Amino acid sequence: MTDFLWETGVLIEAMRARPVGMDLPGGITGISIDSRSLKEGDAFFAIAGDRFDGHDFLTNARRAGAALHVVSEKRLPALGRMQAPMLVVDDVLAALGRLAEAARARSKAKIIAVTGSVGKTTTKEALRQGLSACGSVHASVASFNNHWGVPLSLARLPADSRFAIFEIGMNHPGEIRPLVKLVRPHAAIVTLIAAAHLGHFRDLDEIADAKAEIFEGIVPGGSAIINADDAKCMRLAAAAKAAGVTNVLTFGEAEGADFRMTEYDPDAEGAALIADIAGQEVYVRLSMPGRHFAQNTLCVLGAAHVAGADIAKVAEALAEWRAMKGRGERFQLPMPGGGEIILFDDSYNANPASMRAAIETLANAKLSENGRRIAVLGDMKELGGHSPTLHAELAEPLKDAGIARVLLVGEEIKPLAEALGDEEIECTTHKTPTEAEEQLFSDMRAGDAIMVKASRSIGLEKVVAALVDRY
Ligand code: ATP
Ligand code: MG
Repeated sequence: MTDFLWETGVLIEAMRARPVGMDLPGGITGISIDSRSLKEGDAFFAIAGDRFDGHDFLTNARRAGAALHVVSEKRLPALGRMQAPMLVVDDVLAALGRLAEAARARSKAKIIAVTGSVGKTTTKEALRQGLSACGSVHASVASFNNHWGVPLSLARLPADSRFAIFEIGMNHPGEIRPLVKLVRPHAAIVTLIAAAHLGHFRDLDEIADAKAEIFEGIVPGGSAIINADDAKCMRLAAAAKAAGVTNVLTFGEAEGADFRMTEYDPDAEGAALIADIAGQEVYVRLSMPGRHFAQNTLCVLGAAHVAGADIAKVAEALAEWRAMKGRGERFQLPMPGGGEIILFDDSYNANPASMRAAIETLANAKLSENGRRIAVLGDMKELGGHSPTLHAELAEPLKDAGIARVLLVGEEIKPLAEALGDEEIECTTHKTPTEAEEQLFSDMRAGDAIMVKASRSIGLEKVVAALVDRY
């Protein structure tokens, strides 16, 4: 046995590559497309993106310790003087795709694909955490879920992993189909259909249809795992059946779901839930409050069950699952004059579904005496013509949640200020995160619970960083 991810001979054959240059290694220990994060012994794939071309970073990759450099035939003449082991291919991304196919073909892992409008990475990381209690797990890094992220993640799959989890995303119809056909999962999860990237679609049905492409790549006898509480569930079930999937399984709180939450009990530190997973009762302790984390837990347990894992062990391991940076992380910050504030950092991303989930989390936060619920919210992007309505519609959940104070950041979110009116909730609008931050500092006091959430480009992580730095 070698410790190589791929032996060079196998790489050459799988990618139909031509070796050039000096000192070909016996194999590679990893795959990188970014010279800044490359590790010694990796193969560097010189992929051309919209803004950068990996061929311009070959020297950096070499310096960082790349064992091999995969380059395109077209660019070879310009690289003439480079003294480095190279594999020359027709097209680097296509070659990575061929390697991904080879990785899938040699693997005996149970493979799980995760798609959906929200919660893909959260669910993927929960699966990684839970399944690690049962065997070796390989999973995509970050949100590597697109036309290069999926083949890269698959090509990195070690030959002997027991489980593998791949996030698959899309902004347009037709993007998921080729990716899931590469991954060929045993189980595919659709977390939720919601208005994300709605700008590229007519309506939610169109989004559901695009997500349903995921069913076309499931292996014969594999399972589709869909959300019983989602309004688009029936549509997805029909699409899965039409794609030839025989096991269409559901998760949620709805009566009759195959993986069902029977009890949910949030508290200050997190939540406890009881689930019925295909007839087996499972208790799970979560370190994060937020019903959406409990919902994700159900599809995690369901997928673990169909992948043949011991779900009692998975459930126990989920106690160690933590929210990721910017996606529901919770801080308790001591205040100088005594007492503390609770801060939820959800600044990484926002769309109507995850905004509602965040508002519910804030509603359930346990307040100390005199504490108030404060929401610092910014624009939800990529909603196209639906944007004003979808922002304004947040007024109702905010009112229901007992939120005392709202600070809004950005342009697109202004309709929400109008919808809130000037009654129950005190609301101010701000052009920049810095402006909102100053206002927040002058308003807040010990005992408050604060939720910070917007689309990434608004930059609300600055508000979180300022709070965490100060206290
Ligand atoms: P991307 O398309 O950017 O890769 P994603 O689908 O991977 O997004 P996450 O990064 O997991 O989504 O989560 C995005 C946001 O949605 C976070 O704020 C997270 O807390 C929230 N979220 C996670 N799961 C759910 C859920 N089931 N319902 C609603 N919101 C959720
Ligand atoms: Mg993601």
